[in-house]
Amino acid sequence: MKTQHILVVGLGYRTGLASANFLVDKGFEVAVCDIKSCEELSPIIQKLDTRVKVIAGNQHPSLLANGFDEIVLSPGVPQSIPLIQEAYRRAIPVISEIELAYRYCKAAIVGVTGTDGKSTVTMLIAHCLNRLGFDAHPGGNIGIPFISLVNSLREDSVAVIELSSFQLETVKTFKPDVAIITNLTPDHLDRYDSLYDYFNAKMNIANNQCKDDYFIFNKDDEFIVNNMPALQSQQHSFSLLGKADCFYSNGAIVMDSNGKTKLVAHASNMKISGLHNVQNAMAAILASTFIGEKFGNNIDIKVLEEALYSFEGLPHRVQNLGEYRGRIFINDSKATTTGAVIMALKSLRDNVILILGGRAKGDDYSRLKTIIKGKVKVLVLIGETKDEFASIFSDIPHVKAFSMEDAVIKAMKLSAKGDTILLSPACASFDMYKNYEERGNHFIEIYSKLVQGELAWM
Ligand code: ADP
Repeated sequence: MKTQHILVVGLGYRTGLASANFLVDKGFEVAVCDIKSCEELSPIIQKLDTRVKVIAGNQHPSLLANGFDEIVLSPGVPQSIPLIQEAYRRAIPVISEIELAYRYCKAAIVGVTGTDGKSTVTMLIAHCLNRLGFDAHPGGNIGIPFISLVNSLREDSVAVIELSSFQLETVKTFKPDVAIITNLTPDHLDRYDSLYDYFNAKMNIANNQCKDDYFIFNKDDEFIVNNMPALQSQQHSFSLLGKADCFYSNGAIVMDSNGKTKLVAHASNMKISGLHNVQNAMAAILASTFIGEKFGNNIDIKVLEEALYSFEGLPHRVQNLGEYRGRIFINDSKATTTGAVIMALKSLRDNVILILGGRAKGDDYSRLKTIIKGKVKVLVLIGETKDEFASIFSDIPHVKAFSMEDAVIKAMKLSAKGDTILLSPACASFDMYKNYEERGNHFIEIYSKLVQGELAWM
């Protein structure tokens, strides 16, 4: 049989690299193209199998004249680029790394999507499943490409995969045994024409599911409930507000199975706080239960309860750094959407000094007004959006800051004992930082300098 010739579009830091190395190992002839130059790509090229052909600084449609049989598209590259449009014109199949990994994956799969909470839910489910005795591996959008897990997954393993809407755009046959959508609020509207397009991309997670599969959704999310397409899979919901398959009542997280209710956990015993994390826990409880059913065993609720209590949470998500001069510092750098900021503010008492701003992602930021008016004393505006936000929030006390140090100094000056200084930007970090981790780490570093007396603020 003729060797298949595959083009990986977008080398990226992780995904394109992992896909190209995987494919060449499987005996395919592989080329990878990227818009970046050879010099820019050089640290990644060093990690690339030498059998992979690198086409740097070129994403021209004419590359397809080399006769590729299939294209693997990295999640950072939009389908709208001329090269991909030309591939469609020539009827060359375009798939995502997720689809590629799925072809080779022997394990059961839990897929997690939604606007906010994906990483937390992914890591929490993997944590719970491992405590329950499964061989669970988190991966996907959290930074461990699914394809890099595939060779080590067994038939009795569980891959818990975080999926962004971009990764789901180009799936064809991918089907998780258990799919979850955490919530849906406006995000990435710079890449999608409407909220419906964004939702439809996300719902690809469930398109190929069949009647033995499970679909878990947030019953409190009106957009999801009102726009849910017909699905083959068994649908189960969680709710903070009323009855559902898993629900919250007076501090208790309860499962409803065939009309019989079962107490699973007390929210106050969890290390991750806030009602959004109760939602995340409910999603994890249902997912763990259904994986148990898939493998034909009833999970031990006591072990699940302990697993929920021992989960430490992830850094940069409403991460409490400690106290300085009576002010509590919270790093929520991962809050790149208005939905996440609303949840962070809901989980805190009032008197918040909120550090807000960065690179806009097309959201309607005025959505934040009501909660900000209820909880925030002063806004400290940073990044590219400072002027835009100063006019959106003109009726709320605000100051502009010109660096993260400046923001922290201004926040200290404007606050009093008992206040909370919260970095929860509602925006991407790329105007000032490489990513949200760098932004959060910088905030942590400045906080440490304050505590050690190395930053003058008075
Ligand atoms: P994602 O991977 O979807 O970006 P994360 O778990 O990394 O989600 O959390 C991103 C941000 O969203 C953080 O600020 C976090 O506190 C907040 N968050 C986490 N879970 C939820 C939820 N269920 N609803 C709303 N916001 C959430």
